Amino acid sequence: MITSDNTNNLYKPFELEYKWQNIWDKDKLYKTNENTSKKNKFYALSMFPYPSGNLHMGHVRNYVITDLIARFQRFQGKSVLHPMGWDAFGLPAENAAIERGINPNIWTKQNISHMKSQLKLLGLSVDWDRELATCDKNYYVWTQFLFLELHKSGLVYQKESEVNWDPIDKTVLANEQVDSEGKSWRSGAIVEKKLLKQWFLKITNYADELLIDLEKLQDWPERVKTMQENWIGKSIGTNINFKMYEHEGEQLHVFTTRPDTLFGVTYLAISVNHPLIKNISDSKILSKLEKLNNYLKETQDKDQKKIGIPTNLYAINPINSKIIPIWISSYVLDEYGTGAVMGVPAHDQRDFEFAKNNSIDINQVIIKNHDNGITQLESAFTENGILINSGEFNGLSNIDAKKQISNYGKINGWAENKIQFRLRDWLISRQRYWGCPIPIIQCPNCGSVPVDKIDLPVKLPNEVKISSNQINSLGSNENWIKTKCPKCGKSACRETDTMDTFMCSSWYFLRYPSTECLTKPFDKENINKWLPVDQYVGGVEHAILHLLYARFLTKALRDNDLFDIDEPFKKLLTQGMVQSAAYKNSITGKYISKSKIKDLSNPTDPEDNSKLQVLFEKMSKSKYNGIDPETVIKKYGADTARMFILFKAPPEKDLEWGDSDVEGQYRFLCRIWKLFLDYKNKEISEYSENKNKDKENILLRSLNIAIKEISNDILNNQFNTAISELMKFYNSLSSNLYFVNKGLRKDALKTFCILLAPFAPHISEEIWHLIGFTTSVHLEKWPLFNSDAIKEDSYELVVQINGKVRDKINLKINITDEEIKEKTLIRPNVKKWIDQKTIRKIIIVKGRIINIVV
Ligand SMILES: [Zn+2]
Repeated sequence: MITSDNTNNLYKPFELEYKWQNIWDKDKLYKTNENTSKKNKFYALSMFPYPSGNLHMGHVRNYVITDLIARFQRFQGKSVLHPMGWDAFGLPAENAAIERGINPNIWTKQNISHMKSQLKLLGLSVDWDRELATCDKNYYVWTQFLFLELHKSGLVYQKESEVNWDPIDKTVLANEQVDSEGKSWRSGAIVEKKLLKQWFLKITNYADELLIDLEKLQDWPERVKTMQENWIGKSIGTNINFKMYEHEGEQLHVFTTRPDTLFGVTYLAISVNHPLIKNISDSKILSKLEKLNNYLKETQDKDQKKIGIPTNLYAINPINSKIIPIWISSYVLDEYGTGAVMGVPAHDQRDFEFAKNNSIDINQVIIKNHDNGITQLESAFTENGILINSGEFNGLSNIDAKKQISNYGKINGWAENKIQFRLRDWLISRQRYWGCPIPIIQCPNCGSVPVDKIDLPVKLPNEVKISSNQINSLGSNENWIKTKCPKCGKSACRETDTMDTFMCSSWYFLRYPSTECLTKPFDKENINKWLPVDQYVGGVEHAILHLLYARFLTKALRDNDLFDIDEPFKKLLTQGMVQSAAYKNSITGKYISKSKIKDLSNPTDPEDNSKLQVLFEKMSKSKYNGIDPETVIKKYGADTARMFILFKAPPEKDLEWGDSDVEGQYRFLCRIWKLFLDYKNKEISEYSENKNKDKENILLRSLNIAIKEISNDILNNQFNTAISELMKFYNSLSSNLYFVNKGLRKDALKTFCILLAPFAPHISEEIWHLIGFTTSVHLEKWPLFNSDAIKEDSYELVVQINGKVRDKINLKINITDEEIKEKTLIRPNVKKWIDQKTIRKIIIVKGRIINIVV
């Protein structure tokens, strides 16, 4: 295989990688071992890609991280399930059909095939036999089946409601798909409101469990859990009934978390659609309301908090019988709470601004303490304090007053305890073609009737008219629509909405353990064995979409007795972005392509010669800073790309692309290559045994340190420092190799191959064979370290945070205090406890303890 011919001695990654990928494929090296126990399994999963057609660096980073973890677990002797699939329904395929006249199915399949060939270049240890695509009828038949399961348990309903309408994509959006500026997550269009009959899933039935079970997710990033917690938005408060003044029998229900401020209420605000509006007959007010409604439709501007219309309606504050005005305001939303809120300008900043803007009274009822007294408020006073102007409750702390006023209201029949969630039901119907058909038949006699499970799948027809003006393309195929009602047998129509693609992706991880199963979506025992996913890796942008939906669906299907799993993903890693240098003209705001810039060390705009800003930003076409993975792999090889990505930044941090760092990793692999080749050639030609006991000790120690540190680093997701350890081991190996006994030499080389294997699987396989092994390095066991060999060199440092032991770190004896601090502060177990707190003091007792006071 390797000859002494000079040209063949070069490291040629592309040829070598291609060779091993084919051998691994042929040998089914990464096929999942089904005969395993729950204890010995490891399910490693990357969020599956949308088949856009081209692999980008963000994908590469995601899959390389998961692959490293999967490979490491395999070395630990685990049976690893590491599958890959395609999130293949969705609008881009439909838009391609409109723009280029390609059938969405063909477009999608072509993209999948191209992306798969690109993915294969990375040498991922994926079990490709389990590949799935959500647009495949063998998959979506089960998406429909699960929809019917949810229907059976009463979690599916249809309702006419005001929905988010994307005027560019011509479809509705779930609340989770509208950003904080009121724009569509996909098209960026300002979202409009429309009244349509839509399908919903009752995710709200699980609001409490979804919230409480976040505590079980110990190995999820805090940030993601906080985002879910806020999205679910549980608030514990009080419902207060305000009687209408001069409208006998009518009441206004208001939810508040601040009953302690009830004496400070100076107005009530209702939404533009509130039922009370029927009591308004004044044409001036009604015409103002119409204007506001039109304005809101046009702008969707949620910042227009100050727009208010006074009505001629009044309510009575139940606690002091004061008559207070009712305003209509754009900031009150129908879908949250009761569509009415109480206005307490003195103690709520939004109310304060609204009151200032509309000349409404401001009545302070809480002060910090008696020394301050009342001063003119410059802004709302939102801190805790003591009640004033509050009748018999004066002098109470506002915390106590919350309970007491609420209780007083309960006794007097105008208040009740209330828990409210921000989470709304999940709107899953879409008026588009390229999605999973909703298995419902609309019968004129029976209403909405679910399709019989035996008649699944409801196949997506090929013959439809797709155009940019057409919504509900499925409706254009008369033959497809017309059917018989499963209940009464009379003529009926199929539902023409398709499902949100997030529905298809909220259960795909349940399918991988049973992709062969043709009679049901998954095998219960298989799920109970393989789930939860042990390590899930993907982007943080899915925190409240996919990750919340998947958790909901898991719980809902569990309650239908389909399996016994409560949570789908045990550990979650959200990888950072891949950024690269973009060149921006700060005057024109235009990005300039690198290829047009003469001197990159002093970049100027070729058009106006002005100096360009160099910014590291997420790779994108519009910024001309994308780097094509295929080009990098063809130039340096996948192993270099993998090493670079893992070395350049910790996985959860953003990564800045740097050509020189890529070359650095390439040179490292070249040096490894040369070391092993030299060894092989020297073994063949005789060399003198030049043993040196000191050098043997040094190599033995560095070998054991490498095993220990790299193992720990991988377990802690510190892949960058693991590679640094690998480099140190390489240095020791190369300078001591020929001064140690034969046994140690072979052992060190062997260990090096295995430690390198999860990072750079191809070259490690090649050098493994080079030193004489004939089976795959990837079938080896991970080496164990000998603690005696590293003993005198290191000690265990106990990490205390505010006096409590939170971690233990193995450190070298001669390490400096600065290095101790540095190593301590990057530990995940330490970060967890000091997160967002100020470090007041760090005390180091050398060789024993570090105490961090926060
Ligand atoms: Zn019927």
